[in-house]
Amino acid sequence: MRIGFIGLGAMGRPMAKNLLKAGHSLTVYDVVPAAAEALAAEGAQTADSLAKVAASGEVVITMLPGDKQIKQVLLSDEFTANLKPGTVILDMTSCAPDSIVEVEGFYKPKGIMVADAPVSGNVEGAVAGTLSIFAAGDDAALKKVWPLLEVMGKQLFSLGACGTGKAFKNLNNLLSISNLVIISEMFHVAQKRGYDMDSLYDMICASTGMSMSFKNRFKRMVDDNYDNGFKLSLARKDYANALAMGEGVPMPVCKLINDLLLANSKHDDVDMAVICKLFEGA
Ligand code: NAD
Repeated sequence: MRIGFIGLGAMGRPMAKNLLKAGHSLTVYDVVPAAAEALAAEGAQTADSLAKVAASGEVVITMLPGDKQIKQVLLSDEFTANLKPGTVILDMTSCAPDSIVEVEGFYKPKGIMVADAPVSGNVEGAVAGTLSIFAAGDDAALKKVWPLLEVMGKQLFSLGACGTGKAFKNLNNLLSISNLVIISEMFHVAQKRGYDMDSLYDMICASTGMSMSFKNRFKRMVDDNYDNGFKLSLARKDYANALAMGEGVPMPVCKLINDLLLANSKHDDVDMAVICKLFEGA
């Protein structure tokens, strides 16, 4: 398939690579030109404008930071004016359900379909092509993009109307991020008492305290390694979007976590396991 791909960061880059490896033809674009150029070596064409990437594919995939960027890109005159009729927009960004519903509503009268398909599974899952993908939207849109989702993911869910994918993703991250905050506090207790962290990790991985957040991020805290992961700024966005979905529902614990996270933006650009450093010296 001819695919346009926009947003070649920690997730987008390996997802695009897997599509190339599967034999698809990709034109790639990122506001940081070096991110697109890095994929040229893997066989992608690079586009130097939104106009060119919009015109390049039967499907245009977006994997952007969040709400602000998908609106900037997908609702821009430059992008919309250059899409060919029949193109499907496959937005895999994590954002508020309302944002993608707005995009879908904008394109419906123009005969352009929008598929909503955020992902879970970390950079490792993007590299391995084993992401969980929360797909939603019209049947015809999902049918068109499904073979691409099968390349990028392992567990694919078809969830209903456009926006449901984003909503479920936010609920998932409400759990995983809340869990990480508690893991971070437990980490400090164990560290203060001088326990062997490898033994503790192995024991918890075999016990009821285990979770994906623990399995994937406890060792990052132990090793003080926050490279190439899920940026804290992105976690904060998902958490705020999940809280907004719960407006009117009592969520005192999540609100407290949100306030603690929002109060700290100094480690925003590294993996969210850095949550364990937010209260250092407090
Ligand atoms: P990232 O910040 O590493 O990458 C985002 C990319 O988008 C960057 O290369 C940036 O230059 C580009 N970009 C920003 N604005 C742009 C614009 N206007 N036009 C074109 N390109 C633009 O983020 P990421 O970790 O790859 O995450 C992407 C999305 O996937 C986010 O919504 C995130 O919440 C979600 N997600 C991330 C992970 C993870 O582990 N990193 C896991 C699941 C879901």
